[in-house]
Amino acid sequence: MNGTTDQTRHQDRVWSVAEHLDDVLSKIGPLDPIELQLLDAQGCVLVEDIKVPVALPPFDNSSMDGYAVRAADVAGATESTPAVLTVIGDIAAGSGELPGTGPGQAVRIMTGAPVPPGADAVVPVEWTDGGTGQGPAATMRAHSAAPQDAGGEVRVHRPAAAGAHIRARGSDVTEGEPALRAGTVLGPSQIGLLAAIGRGTVRVHPRPRVVVLSTGSELVQPGEALGPGQIHDSNSFQLTAAARAAGAIAYRVGAVVDDAETLRSTLEDQLIRADILVTSGGVSVGAYDVVKETLAALSAEEGTVEFRRLAMQPGKPQGFGLIGPDRIPLLALPGNPVSSYVSFELFVRPAIRALMGLPEVHRPTTPAKCTEAVASSPKGKRQFLRGSYDAEAGTVTPVGGAGSHLIKAMAHANALIIVPEDTTEVPAGAEVDIVLLG
Ligand code: AMP
Ligand code: MG
Repeated sequence: MNGTTDQTRHQDRVWSVAEHLDDVLSKIGPLDPIELQLLDAQGCVLVEDIKVPVALPPFDNSSMDGYAVRAADVAGATESTPAVLTVIGDIAAGSGELPGTGPGQAVRIMTGAPVPPGADAVVPVEWTDGGTGQGPAATMRAHSAAPQDAGGEVRVHRPAAAGAHIRARGSDVTEGEPALRAGTVLGPSQIGLLAAIGRGTVRVHPRPRVVVLSTGSELVQPGEALGPGQIHDSNSFQLTAAARAAGAIAYRVGAVVDDAETLRSTLEDQLIRADILVTSGGVSVGAYDVVKETLAALSAEEGTVEFRRLAMQPGKPQGFGLIGPDRIPLLALPGNPVSSYVSFELFVRPAIRALMGLPEVHRPTTPAKCTEAVASSPKGKRQFLRGSYDAEAGTVTPVGGAGSHLIKAMAHANALIIVPEDTTEVPAGAEVDIVLLG
């Protein structure tokens, strides 16, 4: 795809939003799986089916603090005629020594502790005198009491059926059962399950490393004073934050001046740590649009980046290609802050999520009633206006107008209002589709 003919053709043609997105996604697949520690795998997609190696719970255990007993011994117990049992020992959670429980005997047991052989029910401490031989007032003390002397007695005031307050071995999952399927996104509960079945590491598609680079000789780092004609570099911060929010590991490279050699060498340096590169600025037709000038002219060996016009507002000029020996995807976004952010949401975020192998790469959309009229949306272009969505009312209100320099309005929006290509006006109260920015 090099040579002037191709390039000229791409410049002439206007791409729809969907065509550009399809092109990006068609060239991006999930990253090669790696083995990660459980917590490093949070939010990642599992690439292996996980079987349960050992049943959960791994042994019958008590669900209450109380006494392990033989159900037959407490069958007739009442408040006035309690069953009186001999306490022969004490089992804490984690205990490996289990006294056998014979007729007329009880073992004090804590939540999660293994049920001793011979016992087939647990009587909660609240149903007993707490082993003090006294009334219910003493029960409170039993909770925090030190291990009880064997040979004491406990009075049980209520019967317990066989199996009562016992969590049976395998009642959660049985050995060999599938725990999680490949393709599962690992959230807190899935990570909890993996830990419970003893997995320390899992194979997943890793989070992509996104390198964000802004261009513009007018850009100054926030925190530094502005000279004449200078502005603060906001794009690289916004895009880095957006990349993180999308699930990526993001690296922000400071703003690069509008100089071809500097851009070239910076990109070369960054390729080593990038699974995807995102640039902002320098992609239109101005005299210093150095991203476009530099990347459109790469040698076949260096890669190919195409610059195109999209039927979209904001975000008309876009660049996309694969560069470097490993053919790393690069998306060159326009420099206006709203344009770069909208472009990120529409194209880069799905690309990041495709690299992660996530099943759903797009933001959710929903219909909403537009509270205000939108006048003069450009014909033939898909317009994305910033909006404030009220989920309860099902309404969206445009914020800040169409200007792609309106950074404050963007910060007060939680949705993008889509005005389709063939729509030039939206009357107040009309239904529109919106992208929920979350
Ligand atoms: P460009 O696409 O490079 O011509 O930039 C278009 C507009 O966006 C210009 O007004 C730039 O000053 C502005 N701009 C470009 N990059 C950034 C940035 N990183 N942060 C804030 N504004 C920017
Ligand atoms: Mg620029």
